[in-house]
Amino acid sequence: VRKIGVMTSGGDSPGMNAAIRAVVRTCAYYHTDCVGYFRGYQGMINGESMDMNARSVRNIVNMGGTILQSARSKEFMTKEGRAKAAENLRENEVDAMILIGGDGTFRGGKAFSDEHGIPVIGVPGTIDNDIYGTHYTIGYDTALNTVVEAIDKIRDTASSHNRLFFVEVMGRDAGFIALNSGIGAGAEEILIPEEDLGLERLLDSLERSRRAGKTSSIVVVSEGDKIGKNVFELAEYVKKNLPDYDARVTVLGHIQRGGRPSCFDRVLASRLSVKAVELLLDGKKDLMVGMVNNEIESCSLDQALKGKHTINKDLLRISEILST
Ligand code: ATP
Repeated sequence: VRKIGVMTSGGDSPGMNAAIRAVVRTCAYYHTDCVGYFRGYQGMINGESMDMNARSVRNIVNMGGTILQSARSKEFMTKEGRAKAAENLRENEVDAMILIGGDGTFRGGKAFSDEHGIPVIGVPGTIDNDIYGTHYTIGYDTALNTVVEAIDKIRDTASSHNRLFFVEVMGRDAGFIALNSGIGAGAEEILIPEEDLGLERLLDSLERSRRAGKTSSIVVVSEGDKIGKNVFELAEYVKKNLPDYDARVTVLGHIQRGGRPSCFDRVLASRLSVKAVELLLDGKKDLMVGMVNNEIESCSLDQALKGKHTINKDLLRISEILST
């Protein structure tokens, strides 16, 4: 492997820049050329790239977003699109790719490598933490800190006005953000996609809290919770059934994806990306790097795609105990 390409794809996440920097600097350290592709797979298809050296990534370790930008590419979902990307890489003499993104990115990467024999290594970058083969994904820790800070502020107004706040956080299929930020911010209830707690239970719990003398409450709701109502309908339902509560809704939205990466995410991105380059230089392919019990490991992209990273359900029990 003499020249390695790197790109970021899917939803951006804080720490992607630290990952790009680590890929580029590790290539420089091992005297291997490095080229960055813009806007994920779309840039590979369009041949939009930039030669990168150790100095091209100065002052980015602390920046949110991704200097290579990200995109979702419909064209790459087709065989023709992937063939165009392979042709561009060959023209540019790129021997292998490092793909920083989520599971969609890895699915595309596997198809690409199978069809064109260009080795790829995946680096998990997404705030959702929903990737098998790693305990943490790049951006998740920063997102948790952003959410907790936002809920702390909401708590101030909730307690000043005796209000009940429903705070919707990201996580369509996974409750990692809701569960951990909910415990960190001291939420009354946490609603996640993995567990349908039911409306009755929610009402009971809120009613019990009220009777126990709580005058304000925070309920953290994951985007994809299974209770069958969106967060606004949920607030209306509670207002109707528990008229003593003044229920409000806050949807945190995209602030969760932005901001300076935490130290944890920078170190994680650095460790994973150094390993990703070293695996390629070692002749390995079609793997994903991950952190398991604080060690950097790798598994096949197939395993990462087939497996499911499950939440720790004990956290639900802890949340219940602590909201007594
Ligand atoms: P996030 O978890 O933040 O959403 P992601 O990597 O899962 O990140 P996706 O939009 O699902 O984000 O995937 C990124 C890109 O990967 C897609 O826009 C598409 O170009 C490519 N891709 C996804 N699935 C496939 C597939 N089955 N075949 C080929 N390419 C795919």
